[in-house]
Order: sequence, then structure tokens, then C-alpha cells
Amino acid sequence: MAQLGAELPGPMTGFARLHKKSVEEGALPAIVYAGTRARTAELAERLGSALGREVLAYHAGLARDARADAQRRFMSGEVDVVVATNAFGMGVDKADVRTVAHESVPGSVEAYYQEAGRAGRDGDPARCLLFAEGRDKGLHVFFIQRGELGDDVIARVARRLLRDVPDGRYDLALDDLTAAGADDDQVRAILGILARVGVLQPAPSSPDRVRGRQLAEFDRRAKAAARTLAGEAQRVRWRQYRSVWGFVESSSCRRVALLRHFGDARPPAPEVPCCDVCEPSIVPAAPPRRTGGIVSALDGGGDLDAAIFSVVDQAEPTVGRTRAVEILRGGKSKVVVKYSYNDLPAYGAFSHLPNDEVLSRVDELLAAGRLRSTGGHYPKLELA
Ligand SMILES: [Zn+2]
Repeated sequence: MAQLGAELPGPMTGFARLHKKSVEEGALPAIVYAGTRARTAELAERLGSALGREVLAYHAGLARDARADAQRRFMSGEVDVVVATNAFGMGVDKADVRTVAHESVPGSVEAYYQEAGRAGRDGDPARCLLFAEGRDKGLHVFFIQRGELGDDVIARVARRLLRDVPDGRYDLALDDLTAAGADDDQVRAILGILARVGVLQPAPSSPDRVRGRQLAEFDRRAKAAARTLAGEAQRVRWRQYRSVWGFVESSSCRRVALLRHFGDARPPAPEVPCCDVCEPSIVPAAPPRRTGGIVSALDGGGDLDAAIFSVVDQAEPTVGRTRAVEILRGGKSKVVVKYSYNDLPAYGAFSHLPNDEVLSRVDELLAAGRLRSTGGHYPKLELA
């Protein structure tokens, strides 16, 4: 039976608290989920030296042997902390995991539930910790927007793929397709879409190649069907984004929220102090807020820009610079409520940044010609 805890946003890394929690008695074995591959190595190293014990890193980019070895050593109890991406878990059924910590907010409630569910399978008390930061929200927005597949990129990849298909078969390097202006993930998503609309039938191949058979032309019908599928996939991602942040920011019991999400209306009956909402004392004290200069490479880079663009693009009615900043910082004025600006995906994503900082970034984008102003008495922002 696991305790659930989510910690709400503070512009600090969860590291200090993660460390504190990991040295508590009965906190190990522990799985720490990190958001990116690079982050697993970095965090494993920091945690390892802070804890004075070996900490494993695990992600899908490691060689097969290294992955198997890390998994074996964790399963056998030889090493009792692993920092992993969501690739860790398949076939991991270790009953005595005492802590599952999420260093950042996962992409969906389903993913969170599955990963957190690896704690306490033996029925003894275990703890799940979710470290949420405002900037995770900006990153989610950024990744969802980056994953958006426009008609043009689908068409470019399809044309490149089907340019040369002797006997109706294609067999080419993944790199040839990414050269059409899409990254690996986008190419895979597009191949999936083309298969679903009946244009091709993929065949098994090594990770760096794509092989298969062409079943139909990429004609107008296929193009329209592909657009519909891409749109649906994007709507699913935004829905997941809203659900998971609804869960994180909710002020009702975590356990009830999870059970409801999965359609179980029975009241929960935990045997340990339930969650940080029901039992605030289980939340560790937060270290002092970092002051000033919190615009790290992440905060000040692409994700703030992406969030600004998304507000300018999606706010209806359109907004001017100060309103855009208010939305990004999670303001609660009457206008924000009246026009449901608080439902926009980027709402509140940069609540941890000072007003001036967000505003000056908007002005930089205006100056750089990446945003335009309509001018007049009440100038509104437009995408350039
Ligand atoms: Zn609760």
C-alpha cells in the first residue's frame, strides 16, 4: 500500500528533497524516474555521490548488455537505487520497491499510475513522490507542439519514402527520411500514420532502417486521412496534458483522483497515511526558494518561446503583450476567467518567472520579428 505525494511547484530542483527522502530509513530500494536520457546519467551521478552509494542509470539508449546488467543488479538487490527513463519497467517486477520518485511530471496520468504502481507490490508500506515544477509545464507544451505533424512534413516524408519503390518495396536508411525535415520520432509517427491509412505495410527492420511494402498511392484521400489521424493524436496529447496537470494541481485526495481517473468510484481505504492532501505532514519541508537568476537554459530558451507562441496563437479573443504575460504567469483577473484563458495549455506555465522577465522575452520576440503587433489603441499580438 503506497503513500502518494505530489509536491507543488517551486522553482527549485526536487533534488534536495529527493536526497533527503532517499536516506530515510526504509526508503530503499528506490526507482527514480527522470524526464530525459541525459538527466538519468546526471542525476544518478549526483545522487550517487550525495548518498555515498552506487546508483544505476538506465535508459533505452544504453547498449543491450548494459541495460540487462543494470536491470539484473537492481533486481537482485546488489544496487538499490536506479535512475531511469520510462524505458525502465518492462519485465521489472520487484516486489519490495519502497520508493518510486518522479523527478518531473510524466506525460500522462496513465504513465504515472503505471510507474508509481511499481512501489510496494509486496503489500508493505511504500512511498511515491512526484516532484512538480512550473517549468515542467512549459516543457510539456514545447514537446507537444514540437510533435505536431503538419500536412507538409507528412507529405515530404511520404514522397521521399515512395520516390523509389522497385516491386512495391521500400528499404532505406532512417537518415534518408529525417533529411526530409523531420526528426526520428516524427518519422516513426508518420510511418505509423501511413500504415494506418493503408499506404504502406512496414516490415521488421533494424532500428536505423525502414523497410516494407507500398500498398497504395499517397493520394488526396490518403493525405486527408493522414491529416485526420495526426490531428487526433495531437488532441489526445493535449487531453493527457490537461489530465496529468489536473492531477498534480488538484487539491483533492491523490488516491481518489487516481481511482476516479480509471473509473473506480469506490472510496479508497488506505492502511497508511494517504497522501499529501489528506495528510500534509508527510510532505517534507521545502528548501528556500532560489531567488533571482532562475532563468536556466531551459527556462529562458525554447520552451518559454514556445509557450508565448502558443498563447498568441490560441488565445481567443487575441491578446496584447501584458495579457499574454499574465496568462503565462497564471494570473487570475476577471478577463482571464471570462475568456477561459486559464484553459489554455500554456496557462501558468511560467508562474515562477518574474513579470518583467516574461515581458522582456515577448518584446525580444517582437523586436526579432518573430511576433507582430496589430498596432492601434489596443494592439494585439500575432504570429509573424
Ligand atoms: Zn489522500
